[in-house]
Amino acid sequence: MTQTPAQTAPQMPAQTAVKLADYQPYSHVLDRVALTFHLSPQATRVQARLHLAPNPARGSGLDLRLDGENLVLIALAVDGQRLELQPDATGLTIPAHLLPDAPFVLETEVEIAPEGNTALEGLYMSGGMYCTQCEAEGFRKITFYPDRPDVMARFHVRIESDMPVLLSNGNPVAAGPGWAEWDDPWPKPAYLFALVAGDLVAHSDRFTTQSGRDVALNIWVRKGDEGFCAYAMDSLIRSMRWDETAYGREYDLDVFNIVAVDDFNMGAMENKGLNIFNSKYVLASPETATDEDFARIEAIIAHEYFHNWTGNRITCRDWFQLCLKEGLTVFRDQQFSGDMRSHAVKRIEDVLMLRGRQFREDGGPLAHPVRPDAYVEINNFYTATIYEKGAEVIGMLKRLVGDAGYKAALDLYFDRHDGAAATIEDWLQVFEDATGRDLTQFKRWYTEAGTPQVSVRDDWADGVYTLTLAQTLPATPGQPHKGLKVIPVAVGLLNPNGDEVVPTTVLELTEAQQSFRFSGLAARPVPSILRGFSAPVVLNRAVSADERAFLLAHDTDPFNKWEAGRALAKEVMAHMITDAAPVSRNWLAALARVALDHGLDPAFRALALRLPGEDDMAATLAAAGHVPDPVAVHAARQALADAVAAELAPVLPGLIAGMATPGPFSPDAAQAGRRALRNAALALLTRRDGGAAARAAFAAADNMTDSLAALVALLEIGAGAPELAAFEARWQADRLVMDKWFMLQVLYAAPQDLAAVVRRLTARPDFDWKNPNRFRAVIGALSANHAGFHHADGAAYDLLADWLLRLDPKNPQTAARMSTAFETWPRYDADRQALIRRALQRILTAPGLSRDLGEMAARMAAG
Ligand SMILES: [Zn+2]
Repeated sequence: MTQTPAQTAPQMPAQTAVKLADYQPYSHVLDRVALTFHLSPQATRVQARLHLAPNPARGSGLDLRLDGENLVLIALAVDGQRLELQPDATGLTIPAHLLPDAPFVLETEVEIAPEGNTALEGLYMSGGMYCTQCEAEGFRKITFYPDRPDVMARFHVRIESDMPVLLSNGNPVAAGPGWAEWDDPWPKPAYLFALVAGDLVAHSDRFTTQSGRDVALNIWVRKGDEGFCAYAMDSLIRSMRWDETAYGREYDLDVFNIVAVDDFNMGAMENKGLNIFNSKYVLASPETATDEDFARIEAIIAHEYFHNWTGNRITCRDWFQLCLKEGLTVFRDQQFSGDMRSHAVKRIEDVLMLRGRQFREDGGPLAHPVRPDAYVEINNFYTATIYEKGAEVIGMLKRLVGDAGYKAALDLYFDRHDGAAATIEDWLQVFEDATGRDLTQFKRWYTEAGTPQVSVRDDWADGVYTLTLAQTLPATPGQPHKGLKVIPVAVGLLNPNGDEVVPTTVLELTEAQQSFRFSGLAARPVPSILRGFSAPVVLNRAVSADERAFLLAHDTDPFNKWEAGRALAKEVMAHMITDAAPVSRNWLAALARVALDHGLDPAFRALALRLPGEDDMAATLAAAGHVPDPVAVHAARQALADAVAAELAPVLPGLIAGMATPGPFSPDAAQAGRRALRNAALALLTRRDGGAAARAAFAAADNMTDSLAALVALLEIGAGAPELAAFEARWQADRLVMDKWFMLQVLYAAPQDLAAVVRRLTARPDFDWKNPNRFRAVIGALSANHAGFHHADGAAYDLLADWLLRLDPKNPQTAARMSTAFETWPRYDADRQALIRRALQRILTAPGLSRDLGEMAARMAAG
């Protein structure tokens, strides 16, 4: 059957878009806030005192509009005078005639029920503790308030509860039995508010800032977890030191608290002085966490800490400017991870992620600019485009203005906007003022969606080498006309003997087509283009396999060295799929040389051995005009892995032995790199020896990295059932490790078994689908099993739709995020398209659909 179902107009819930063009400053200024919480699972009382005045920027005589959702209003007073007003579904309006035309105090008392809050936005309960998540718009579920980032106020918080540990933002000022008070001297928007109350224990340390402030550091966890905090604390201390030396920014409170929470929609949240983390990104030990987990924890701790300046001290004027804090803070955490580990390896990993998630988003129905100009539900815009492309744009800016220009611009940014809510215009202005550069054209990177394509021609005549670069901009739905971008293209030239004759030079492509000449060369050089992935673009250039192999062997730029091997692997795989070509002998030989090159970082060699993923390969085929067949892609990748294993078979045991890591476990980059290469070799050997070495490695493993790698190696060849059972028996009480156990079975299920495997896993009593980590581990992993998700029977599509509809009423934010598995539907054949569209239609027509999931499904269905 190849017919798409009849298109009927979806019955959408009413969706009103918020538009950037409609921005107005708030009607009032809010200077101080005093909050008192009487905590109770079913009936928490929140008293708020807001010190308000008419905003001179808006004039007087305006109504006061406060956001508020799911709040029971108990009392309301202005300057002590009680008012009898009824809130509506989204807030409360106090008419201007009831307000003084001068500073006044507004008092409210509301009742909320944190125990019933399964959306995990606002004040909710997780594992018996109270906690909050207010970004983006959760504070309106706590009290009536102008819940927008440009309203910044100083908060004083009193918590009354019988919980032993009571935390909020800022510094602790007073406490007694059953109560505590916190005062935050720094003005902040409500999305940075946090409160935690629970029976917690702390892993503590201290830090002295460069100006001599003594800061108490605490990581608060449930009893029994305190032994799993050392790496997070170490990462925090290194982050604090790094921000002082790299950006001249130091911490500004007496205490920095982190709390680990099991039920959390996001990774972590940078609330001022009280960061709340998904426990997955705090808790780690060598026995329970992999090297990737350690690296993630280090990066996320750093990210949230760096927000103290880029996000908290300087925040966003409105949510359209989200990339102002997120793009910049991701860029900073990438710099930090590079400094702590390896810049080359970090760059490759970041680009893999960018291409895997952001390029996919940018080329599909969910494409949107780094700074969108409209949204229905802001929670749907915490995307790879805002975060990862937002960071790439800053990397390009830095490349264009140079390190000194970047530093001058950042210093000016911190001086000029500290304590304020800023915009992308403000951000670009500091670069213009500090460097004298006109960024009018550059700004299009923020305002236009889509991944530019850069094509390259080269020419050699009379001793002059000419590179001609041209840019094209793919159409994006709703955005037919786009302007030319400023694209920094870093280029180096190599002699035919492999010597570099022109070191890395940044060419600025600003026109539709431009030529760049290099003279004084003795022979036609081999170009190495887009070094370090200097711009988030797709490079189109016909390159022979020989030239790629040459760059893989000789390029001095580690990114492009890896890229040459990657491109070769993709070409080999594409030929296997489209022309049934055999695996290229030359590619195998080149790959083997890199794998065995002891002059290279083992982590780099492990990355070189990692084959392109199936989703990546499907995207590559689609970009080349083919309709990817998921079955063929899966088969080709298996065949390729078998061929690599056969090629390297004689050297694998030596490689594994040579990469041993004697001595105690350390999660540092050097040891992690050796484990990565050793385990890559083990996975290949497993394809040759029926799993004997992997079974032995699993039995002998004394850390999670090795244990999991051996298990994955077995699952990849369809073995590993006894090891899965042993893993479960050992770890069934550890919720984070069991998330891995669940996810592995989804990722490595045989394609035809995927739906059945997921049905079996979701029927287990320990499949707690209301816990976002567990839901992500199973339902969120479905589409990562590419051939299984896209199995022709459509069973996995239906299963995903069923679960999204089940989760949506409880947790719309996570349901909406997981729905992006469907975003690639235009790539596939008509039968699969019809099946996915049917699933999307079923979601769209479901009664009571949330704004979150409704917006996502509508955008995908329209794509
Ligand atoms: Zn962030």
